[in-house]
Amino acid sequence: MNAKLDSAVTTRPVTRATFDEVLVPTYAPAAMVPVRAAGLDLWDQAGKHYLDFTAGIAVTSLGHAHPLLVDALTRQINTLWHLGNGYTNEPVLRLATALTEATFADRAFFCNSGAEANEAALKLARKYAHTKFGPHKSRIISCLSSFHGRTLFTVSVGGQPKYTEGFEPLPQEINHIPYNDIDAAIAAITDDVAAVIVEPIQGEGGVIPGRADYLQALRKRCDETGALLVFDEVQSGVGRSGTLYAYMQLGVTPDILTTAKALGNGYPIGAMLTTDAIAAHFGVGSHGTTYGGNPLAATVALSVIETINTPAFLERVKQATSRLMGHLGKLGDDYPQLFGKVRGMGLLIGLPVAAAFKGRAKDFTKAAEGLGLMLLIAGPDVIRLAPALIVTDAQLDEADRIMRAAAEQVIAADHAAAAAPAVA
Ligand SMILES: *Cc1c(COP(=O)(O)O)cnc(C)c1O
Repeated sequence: MNAKLDSAVTTRPVTRATFDEVLVPTYAPAAMVPVRAAGLDLWDQAGKHYLDFTAGIAVTSLGHAHPLLVDALTRQINTLWHLGNGYTNEPVLRLATALTEATFADRAFFCNSGAEANEAALKLARKYAHTKFGPHKSRIISCLSSFHGRTLFTVSVGGQPKYTEGFEPLPQEINHIPYNDIDAAIAAITDDVAAVIVEPIQGEGGVIPGRADYLQALRKRCDETGALLVFDEVQSGVGRSGTLYAYMQLGVTPDILTTAKALGNGYPIGAMLTTDAIAAHFGVGSHGTTYGGNPLAATVALSVIETINTPAFLERVKQATSRLMGHLGKLGDDYPQLFGKVRGMGLLIGLPVAAAFKGRAKDFTKAAEGLGLMLLIAGPDVIRLAPALIVTDAQLDEADRIMRAAAEQVIAADHAAAAAPAVA
């Protein structure tokens, strides 16, 4: 008899070890398994409490189980789940109206993730260029160390070769340029370029803010060459930067903007936003996805946008940002052997590790997790903080206290290791 059939699958005990038995090993999740959360408070299987400064990688920007979202989704769950694209629905019509009223865009296309939003943007840019200028205009320019998702097209456009190794042959006519380098951009954006895609702040690549003059130079060069400028705001969007979208504080308007992550606060949804003139090139049948813009996801996203896109909410994000930056600046000053200079935009913050600590950002986040604070990394050398935008001053101060304790712990562990006699 198969032991697995002895008890109902839904109630059988599961642990972190189960992951290693039944999941494809694409991830290496933490040792603890979260079971419940509200706001920034989270509890694991053992009942241990954590302060969540990851927000599921900049996703749960309104915190876990936000009452407004729970209420909106519960009502929609009892009303209408899914239709397919042969029918539209009221939530998606309201959501598209809200997003187009709040941004430069006239039109929205909905999908289920950031990668799909970028896939749609890149396909649309190629289609636009082919129709308007001819098939020679197909090149896509992207930045080194950028991240745009994991489909074959978006991973090829992303600027991190380790993610494409072994998946060849890759889509063609894609070039990568150094981020924040205006001369390199001007040289690379030639007449055969269909689109330039850029994160206004690189998230996965190490939390590196794009300079406003750089992004403005991309805009100018795209206008000169007829290339479309695509802003990937999958991580920076929906209030995280301190404005609804980061472009709004950079003096640059893109032709296409992609958004996902926080848009659904954990309910999967992505969107590509663009103008009437560009959207016209995605005619009936040219692109689509079964779940895109379904009533459940659209309902959640509408509540998210309504809640975040108010002057008071965004003002509070800026206040929280300066308090957190203040804490981290002082932390860096007090522990120069561990940390470099803090950087970021809004509540997407990177604290690089010092040279002597190179490659060991994870050692620090593990120590913090042991002390009850969940943090992210962005590559091996950068500690990343992306708390929910509803974070309180008390929570910011508590995170500071735990990070200081974690710093002491990491230093003490290094001293102990150095003092231990070498093993022959
Ligand atoms: C997370 C991310 C993506 C991919 O989003 P998925 O929902 O994981 O497909 C794309 N671009 C940026 C900037 C991201 O941070």
